[in-house]
Amino acid sequence: MQRITILGATGSIGVSTLDVLARHPERYSVYALSAHSRVEELAAQCERFRPVRAVVGSAAAAEQLGALLRAKGLRTEVEYGEQALCAIASAAEVDAVMAAIVGAAGLAPTLAAARAGKKVLLANKEALVMSGQLFMDAVHDSGAVLLPIDSEHNAIFQCLPHGYGRAPEAAGVAKVLLTASGGPFLARAVETLDAVTPEQACKHPNWVMGRKISVDSATMMNKGLEVIEAHWLFGAPADQIEVVIHPQSVIHSMVSYVDGSVLAQLGNPDMRTPIAHALAWPERIASGVDQLDLTRMGGLQFERPDFVRFPCLALAFDALRAGGTAPALLNAANEVAVQAFLEQRIGFRQIDRVIAHVMDAVPHGAASSIEAVMAQDAAARAAAQTYITGHAK
Ligand code: NAD
Ligand code: MG
Repeated sequence: MQRITILGATGSIGVSTLDVLARHPERYSVYALSAHSRVEELAAQCERFRPVRAVVGSAAAAEQLGALLRAKGLRTEVEYGEQALCAIASAAEVDAVMAAIVGAAGLAPTLAAARAGKKVLLANKEALVMSGQLFMDAVHDSGAVLLPIDSEHNAIFQCLPHGYGRAPEAAGVAKVLLTASGGPFLARAVETLDAVTPEQACKHPNWVMGRKISVDSATMMNKGLEVIEAHWLFGAPADQIEVVIHPQSVIHSMVSYVDGSVLAQLGNPDMRTPIAHALAWPERIASGVDQLDLTRMGGLQFERPDFVRFPCLALAFDALRAGGTAPALLNAANEVAVQAFLEQRIGFRQIDRVIAHVMDAVPHGAASSIEAVMAQDAAARAAAQTYITGHAK
């Protein structure tokens, strides 16, 4: 029996994870769940999955959750705040941690799980983008097992059966091919992008996801963050990572080898597949996802990304090549810009301008410690806010 903590249980990934766990009660039990503010949903999850502990974002939310749980006769221990998140991620009773908080808020607890040597199921790509080598060192030093949940990285992991953990050259890898759907605005006239609404940006053609990652998919910053994520997970330099637009999202990514072989992982676009894969690895379990019916599939298309239409992708490659704390700056500026776009304070095309401004205005340095990374994160957020205030709609 594996005991699982889910950080971000009420989100899109959290809910899909609970769906998979519920199919295998003989294999998994839930040790702890966290949510930021959706207390009633968390209370319902506690009633169903009976965790030992539950963590929320504030004292008021904890009070509300406590009352709801007592009314249901549950004895789940309720806590709040970042220290409590780190505690449920690193507790001795926990075998595996699903890191599914969105954004920089997930860094501390995800790192705590890595430092404690847990099996870390990584959905929270922003945590790895920010902390890069520091995170990978923590995994290495503690003997943690890091398994990617992001569908592309999970696909690459599956296409690297002998190469995982080895240098790409040693494994005969020529290129890592990250597929991208291109999001909802792949074919829309670039001049009209300034007028798009948050609702339009969040309507992804193939995946149902949280709002932040949905906007990231529309700008393709999601793919940019994934390029940086792939660099750290698989040790591939920027030049060995290629983005390929594939609007059908059936091939989740590929690895091309020096002998001319290209290995791909295919499946219906449903996050329960990578979640089940990582939960059971190296075994396989049912996920609830339908088998892919190849005969009912239309054609599969591939094209090169347009860096003019998607400047965020170019900014992410620049940040990866710049190294140090540049990816942390990129991530923080993006989080602030996306939030401002969702609150309709800036237009869609201003997202990349905010990020470009921050990358120019805030000097990046060495990512020598988590404290240094967090200081850069704070500086980038401040610079982004100032710029947004000066350029608001
Ligand atoms: P979501 O917005 O649906 O859920 C986010 C979760 O994080 C919620 O449980 C929320 O309570 C929690 N949270 C939000 N802010 C918090 C804070 N400040 N402190 C603590 N907890 C907080 O997001 P999602 O779509 O599930 O994505 C989660 C992560 O997984 C993101 O990093 C995203 O990039 C990654 N991811 C998601 C998908 C997907 O299909 N949804 C695919 C690949 C990767
Ligand atoms: Mg992805």
